[in-house]
Amino acid sequence: MPGLIAENVEKLAPYTPGEQPRRAGVVKLNTNENPYPPSPECAKALRSFDPSRLRLYPDPVFLALRKKIAQIHRTVPARIFVGNGSDEILALAAKAFSWEGRKIGSLDPSYSLYKTMAAIRGVEWTGDSRDRDLSLFLWTNPNAPTGRFAEPEEIAAFAKKFKGVVIVDEAYADFARGDAMKLATAPGNRNVIAMRTFSKSYSLAGLRVGYCVGPEKLVAALYKIKDSYNVDAIAQAVALAALSDRRWMKANAAKIRRTRRLFSIELERRGWDVVPSEANFVFAKPPAAMSARDLYAALRDRDVFVRYFPGPATGDRLRITIGLDVEMEKLLAEMDSIFRKKNERRKR
Ligand code: PMP
Repeated sequence: MPGLIAENVEKLAPYTPGEQPRRAGVVKLNTNENPYPPSPECAKALRSFDPSRLRLYPDPVFLALRKKIAQIHRTVPARIFVGNGSDEILALAAKAFSWEGRKIGSLDPSYSLYKTMAAIRGVEWTGDSRDRDLSLFLWTNPNAPTGRFAEPEEIAAFAKKFKGVVIVDEAYADFARGDAMKLATAPGNRNVIAMRTFSKSYSLAGLRVGYCVGPEKLVAALYKIKDSYNVDAIAQAVALAALSDRRWMKANAAKIRRTRRLFSIELERRGWDVVPSEANFVFAKPPAAMSARDLYAALRDRDVFVRYFPGPATGDRLRITIGLDVEMEKLLAEMDSIFRKKNERRKR
């Protein structure tokens, strides 16, 4: 008897986003949000937004926003697509660039949504970039949850040989020492798409805007299959305002990089193994006295949220978002207290 739900959906292991605390006072270092507020230009755009504009549908092709993005990356609006968060772009890319019998690949470990996306699309996922059946490869750079950075030359060499589409997911690129945007804007580019988000460096995770840059032909395929009005009018206005004040974003990214450096040193002093990070988080292994899972739970009891990903490739580490200096100090103090208690119990 046929069921009510598509078989692949019935079987789907859904993506689990980081926990959203339901109470005040939590130090939230679990979803890589920016601890600093968005540019005051965003507040201005919101205040001056005329609600009567909401009577009308938004620009379906977000031309003003695309023009601004094109100017920033020295390219043309026809090579730019904007999504309701970069997650929407990923879902559209899965539809446009994969089909039955072909696979979606990514680094492993990486952003676990990619696997879910492939399952929703009904195609296989693989962590093997040399798989001959790949039609779409997602290269997260810097990677998540590790924070590792790959040189753009390495990505270029891969893309040159690769037959399918490469999406360089640059959600964290503003915190890194480089990026692959030039590959995406190069005139001869056939298969590289670079993707960015307003959620991290621009401090606008709640707005839901991301964009990508790539060859016109691939970008046109995304336009063909998108919802008519996928980016709402307020989101378009506020994202545009954020782009008018990139200095603000860059200053915050610099503060976060500084905190990242100091915090990594503090962890290492305490015996942690820290992956060198080029993102707004660190992926680190606690000293043997306590497992990552237990520490995650103990911190949660003390209202400090960090991220724990079970599984063989990730389960011995915590992913800790870089927050304000005072938040990192609070985290370190709670950790020290947890380890001290554990030590005392052992001695007794
Ligand atoms: N890519 C990566 C690697 C991410 O970590 C995230 C955020 N979880 C996203 C894309 C999606 O970001 P957004 O949909 O907020 O633009």
